[in-house]
Amino acid sequence: MGLLAGKVALITGATRGIGRAIALKYASEGADVAFTYLSSASAAEELTRELEALGVKAVGYRSDAGSYEEAHTLATEVQKTFGRIDILVHNAGITRDTLLMRMSEEMWDAVINTNLKSAFNITHAVAPIMARQRGGSIVYMSSVVGIGGNAGQANYAASKAGLIALSKSVAKEFGARGVRANCIAPGFIQTDMTAILSEEIRASFVENISLRRAGTPEDVAGVALFLGSSLSAYVTGQTIPCCGGMKG
Ligand code: NAP
Repeated sequence: MGLLAGKVALITGATRGIGRAIALKYASEGADVAFTYLSSASAAEELTRELEALGVKAVGYRSDAGSYEEAHTLATEVQKTFGRIDILVHNAGITRDTLLMRMSEEMWDAVINTNLKSAFNITHAVAPIMARQRGGSIVYMSSVVGIGGNAGQANYAASKAGLIALSKSVAKEFGARGVRANCIAPGFIQTDMTAILSEEIRASFVENISLRRAGTPEDVAGVALFLGSSLSAYVTGQTIPCCGGMKG
């Protein structure tokens, strides 16, 4: 019997990287999985097949996390198809990195919209469903740079800091109805998002990590399993770094 047997999880941005690893981890622990993507339709089909092969129900939805309307349509569809939503992992995110004085308004808006406003959209749509069920766990994918800031990532760091404050507020507003809200703050994780960094920058990151290696999506999925399951039944409003002991 898996840790998530009988649960339904909704994961945003699961066609690649961290979201994909969480979807597979959740399914391997018995959860039915609804997930979203923006453009990777064939990766979504492939993931659906992999999840089904683990013996669970799985459906991928093309849903732009930045759209309030699409988030609400998504939640309605998922509830109709799966009957309930026990775990929400808001993982979808993008970067548009550059130094602040070179950052365009478009770069700022794109990152805030996809990473932070999206969290409002999906929480607004899903939290009432969880409140009616008298239980649920919301996990937001923040970042260590949301805690410490980062040169060249003012937009991204601000969006990830916003998720931390959002999770604490949601924890306070919905705690009485059994809904928990927490953040994971990953450090340097090997995915498409970090593959664009030069070998030199990657090496300098690793030098500052106590465990002397980059993280894997599976490392983050382990923390997401803890927060999604009843192992964390008395944990809410918290941010858990998953960064191999990265120095700030
Ligand atoms: P990734 O490999 O770039 O994957 C991003 C995922 O988000 C993809 O499935 C993508 O779908 C989806 N997505 C992007 N924009 C979307 C939108 N508007 N609507 C719906 N889905 C959208 O990223 P990752 O490295 O796995 O990162 C996942 C999360 O962890 C992000 O929030 C990121 O900020 C955070 N994080 C990552 C690291 C790291 O080192 N990698 C560190 C800290 C935090 P498509 O495939 O369809 O584009």
